Amino acid sequence: MLQCNCSIFGDEQSKEAIVVDPGDDIAGIQEILSRHQLKVKAIVITHAHIDHIGGAAKLKAATGAPIYMNENDQTLYDHLDMQASWLGMETPERTAIDVAAREGDKLALGSAEFQIIGTPGHTQGSISIWIPTENKLVAGDTLFRDSIGRTDLPGGNTRQILRSIADKLLVLPDEAVVIPGHGSNTTIGRERAVNPFLQDLWGH
Ligand SMILES: [Zn+2]
Repeated sequence: MLQCNCSIFGDEQSKEAIVVDPGDDIAGIQEILSRHQLKVKAIVITHAHIDHIGGAAKLKAATGAPIYMNENDQTLYDHLDMQASWLGMETPERTAIDVAAREGDKLALGSAEFQIIGTPGHTQGSISIWIPTENKLVAGDTLFRDSIGRTDLPGGNTRQILRSIADKLLVLPDEAVVIPGHGSNTTIGRERAVNPFLQDLWGH
């Protein structure tokens, strides 16, 4: 319903997969996994908003894979019922977070390394995932094509999200592909050049 982008990364050799932000439609995710004969080794949550984490418990129950999330979003996750009621949705099932995902942590998928970058601002526990060998950044709701994540929800902070983007994301290569939490993919170079929310950063 909320049109969140879920990413499934699979390694052709080991047949292992990492799923990022299973918001909903677990049947659709499982269909892709089984079509490619992939076994989920980790479920990574960029932040605890319902559209990103809503399906995590179901996917964990179905696959046995551990859930990775930054602990600074635990309170948001604890209040999933409140998020659901704001949106007039049914509260999805909740589960334990198995592993804390922190700045500098690394997950391996085949020969690819998934590096956790702490990018607070949209929420206090927002993370992004940088995959250098693939030249891809999964940005959650921190950076979008032509926009940035909203900061008017509980835990949001505008100065902080801009600092996260400037210090942690815009330092990545221009040609790095950005997979945002909503909408179309973009590149770091494009957003650095034309994203209207980032054009004031340089004087500061
Ligand atoms: Zn969000």
